Amino acid sequence: MDAYEKIEKIGEGTYGKVYKARDINTGKLVALKKCRLEMEEEGVPSTTLREISLLQMLSDSNHIVKLLCVEHTEENNKPCLYLVFEYLNTDMKKWMDRNGKGPAHPLPTMHIKSMVYQLIKGVAYCHMHGVLHRDLKPQNLLVDDEKMCLKVADLGLGRHFSVPLKSYTHEIVTLWYRAPEVLLGATHYATPVDMWSVGCIFAELVRKAPLFPGDSEYQQLLHIFKLLGTPNEDTWPGVTKLRDWHEWPQWQPQDLRRIFPTLEEAGIDLLKRMFAYDPALRISAKEALNHPYFDDLDKVAVDALESQEVRDRMAEAAAANVH
Ligand code: AMP
Repeated sequence: MDAYEKIEKIGEGTYGKVYKARDINTGKLVALKKCRLEMEEEGVPSTTLREISLLQMLSDSNHIVKLLCVEHTEENNKPCLYLVFEYLNTDMKKWMDRNGKGPAHPLPTMHIKSMVYQLIKGVAYCHMHGVLHRDLKPQNLLVDDEKMCLKVADLGLGRHFSVPLKSYTHEIVTLWYRAPEVLLGATHYATPVDMWSVGCIFAELVRKAPLFPGDSEYQQLLHIFKLLGTPNEDTWPGVTKLRDWHEWPQWQPQDLRRIFPTLEEAGIDLLKRMFAYDPALRISAKEALNHPYFDDLDKVAVDALESQEVRDRMAEAAAANVH
């Protein structure tokens, strides 16, 4: 860890502290993520090693935060892992709040479109590799506001754990982006849970306010049912068999156009498909990338953003070889 100079603590993730630091050799900024992992006598548990190699593989996408390396050290005689990530200067929550909160301070339409598109690209890459994120939220989406580039973070290490209700610092884990099947106690759930979260984030970018700000699992479901209508066996076959299903107040679905007056028709359609109750009918990340809402987005520019980065990295690697 002598190779890094810690600058400040920048966050408390679900699984540990995050520091902004400088790589002394290259001068580059990095994010150090300290992992509190139960070490076994033989060293790092094999499940953790698997998780790390998965993270490394996912790092190939430019919409997933890059894991640069892993440092294994000792602190107070306890083994400890630091994951070293590329550093991005802000996250989507801070980026969103920058020009004011609420519908009176809308973001430019093309910024919303580009952010949602990049988010879906990152999610599609995870799903393609059989990885669920399960905790997508604006704080986990890192943003480079100069390049207007978004990257999914806080991935992978949660895969072998259940989604916790409290983080290790006892901070309440937000429920706002959690899919209804998870809230209703489904034991088997899959990639659609992430697309529900993407829908909530999309809606928040449009409204500049969280869509379903519940403070308990019950309240969270009420928020959802009030807007999208109380589900039943017709709208969601099997819902009444879920573990935590019971009788709920009855609401009819509201017209999303009234809730999102600034969102174009294609955007309303995409949102509706992300909010399909039945997970089997919810739009997948791959399908969403081809949705007409993105037809007028300059996808070439978004992809060029990627290739520019790849070019930068190759130039860096070449320079490092020369010295
Ligand atoms: P996480 O555990 O990934 O949710 O991290 C908690 C907070 O630390 C995030 O909300 C970010 O503000 C910050 N953070 C995490 N990773 C990075 C990174 N690679 N670059 C900059 N900030 C980060």
